[in-house]
Amino acid sequence: MHCIIIDINYRILAKYQADAPQVLHSFDLLTDLNTHEALELPLGEVGRNFKVVQLQGNIEESTLEGYISVSLRSLIVSLPEADFQLLGRAIQLCRWQTEHQYCGKCGGVTQASQVDEALTCPSCELSFYPKIAPCVIGLVCDGPRCLLARGSRHPEAMYSTLAGFIEAGENAEQAFAREVMEEVGVAVDNIRYLYSQPWPFPGQLMLGFIADYSGGDICVDGEEILEAHWFDYNELPLIPPQSTISGRIIRDFVRRQQTAK
Ligand SMILES: [Zn+2]
Repeated sequence: MHCIIIDINYRILAKYQADAPQVLHSFDLLTDLNTHEALELPLGEVGRNFKVVQLQGNIEESTLEGYISVSLRSLIVSLPEADFQLLGRAIQLCRWQTEHQYCGKCGGVTQASQVDEALTCPSCELSFYPKIAPCVIGLVCDGPRCLLARGSRHPEAMYSTLAGFIEAGENAEQAFAREVMEEVGVAVDNIRYLYSQPWPFPGQLMLGFIADYSGGDICVDGEEILEAHWFDYNELPLIPPQSTISGRIIRDFVRRQQTAK
């Protein structure tokens, strides 16, 4: 069995071989680390036969020659999608265990449920599940044009789709229409679901959509969104990589436009 090793700050132990990060390690490696306070979690079906080990301190790179600690975000492009998903699950489970040691209702110490993937309070029987936040993300289209925005948290010159959290009581389509209106001031209709991607920063599930422009002029808030423009499908600016749902939605739109010609 192999393991993923994560430290207290959710940094991942990696070894680079021919520029490719290796993040699955033999359990033998743990004997070289101070792991007497490590938390071990099985990763379940998605994780095949791996375990995640979280150290209660920082990874001391100096004690392991050739290894470094890396952030999950730095591995988005360089890891195969299945490995990235596995690491995301590992970190989300560690974060959930760390942040739900006590019951939020009565303050009791929680315990792992024997029945499902939950932490349960023995006093009041309240259960706590890994925290997953549903988000909407999608592309607004108008014939051969699509609307892309430059967010304040994106690298300079990169344009992307619009996204936001679903609020309590909303369905996903309402959330997408609201986010588009709030971020760029345009109305949409014919909102269609495409596909989804877990996005463990820290625990989003991105639900991908495409929608048709139905009215309004672009007006950005200047804070979350700095600029937004219509782009013809064959004159796109720098967009996110294919490994992100945003990059995939935009490229799928371009492909459909090309084959429609
Ligand atoms: Zn309780």
